[in-house]
Amino acid sequence: MSRRKIVAGNWKMNKNNNDALQLIRDILATNLPRDIHTVLALPSIYLKNGVDMLKHIFGIDVAAQNCHQEQSGAFTGEISAPMLSSISVPYVVIGHSERRQYFYENNEQLAQKVDAALANGLQPIFCCGESLDIRKSGDHVIYVSEQIRESLFHLSDDKWANIIIAYEPIWAIGTGETASPGQAQEMHAALRSMIGIEKSADIADNLSILYGGSVKSTNAADIFRGADVDGALVGGASLDAGGFLEIVDALAQS
Ligand code: PEP
Repeated sequence: MSRRKIVAGNWKMNKNNNDALQLIRDILATNLPRDIHTVLALPSIYLKNGVDMLKHIFGIDVAAQNCHQEQSGAFTGEISAPMLSSISVPYVVIGHSERRQYFYENNEQLAQKVDAALANGLQPIFCCGESLDIRKSGDHVIYVSEQIRESLFHLSDDKWANIIIAYEPIWAIGTGETASPGQAQEMHAALRSMIGIEKSADIADNLSILYGGSVKSTNAADIFRGADVDGALVGGASLDAGGFLEIVDALAQS
């Protein structure tokens, strides 16, 4: 798959059933630009409804926020990639920093989750990003490159067509603090270059790399100016249809 412009909204653990379905309706009632791929990462319990509501609508899909690495078994409370696939969920967020921080997911386990997703026809939105301490130490590019090497570099070349990367500096997630457009572009360019050198130029050129971390309607246009920024993974600002549409519009106009 070639490089695409994508805005993915990560609803995290927000909204009750009525409010979630209403937000999907509100987003559908907006004039979403057709050349942007819009993705809604819904809480699992709303995925089936989301798939049904969006299945005839071009350019918008749902994502799961996580999946387990095993196909099935005694893992109470977990959701497997085959389960997501069986209700036609096309995307799954893997390695969000909240999963890494609160559920102790590490690069090795995330590599297994990526494999499980791909084996079941799901496209991973693979999250990576550094803490504030690592950013201050100046080792942020080395650190994030290593996350990608350890979780994605075992993949054969053909699998990369189904990978989307989301660079999300932890210090910018849900904090109101955004990486500057220069900081976002610097990391995206460094990752694309590293992947180009260590995997192939073709893989790097065709890879969509999204930025995430307090993206909102007021800063989206500036961030999207970066030549290597292909879109955004949006948390808080994806919970309001109007504000979310403005971010999608900003990407369409970039
Ligand atoms: C996220 O949850 O991936 C995220 C980037 O959150 P926020 O936009 O709220 O910082």
